[in-house]
Amino acid sequence: MIKEIHIETKYRNEFIDITDKVEESIKGFNNGLVVVFSQHTTAAITVNEGSDLSVKADIRKKLSDLVPVDNRFKHSEGNSDAHIKVSLIGPSETLIVKNGKLMLGTWQRLFLCEFDGPRNRKILLKAVKG
Ligand code: ZN
Repeated sequence: MIKEIHIETKYRNEFIDITDKVEESIKGFNNGLVVVFSQHTTAAITVNEGSDLSVKADIRKKLSDLVPVDNRFKHSEGNSDAHIKVSLIGPSETLIVKNGKLMLGTWQRLFLCEFDGPRNRKILLKAVKG
């Protein structure tokens, strides 16, 4: 079964912690893997530090330094920086689920990375028993 999470983002660039939403969505699924997949070309999924919020701010800043908004890109929508950032981060994560909980490290959280917001985003979840 495939589930969906819908997120309304507020800013052009932001990282939104979706850990609790994912755990809520897989309630009743106890052990196995869950794939968390962004169905968008300008929004990615990553796992990183969720305790010190300056870490996600640093990642966003460094990505924007590496891939600035630049009107010399060929893509005409003006959001090539967002497309490139998604390819750098990736559209999905696969996480281990044990006893209904995501097996994340102490400081790890799961994030939706918005690079071309604000938009309505749809994240797919596919749980696989094992
Ligand atoms: Zn585009």
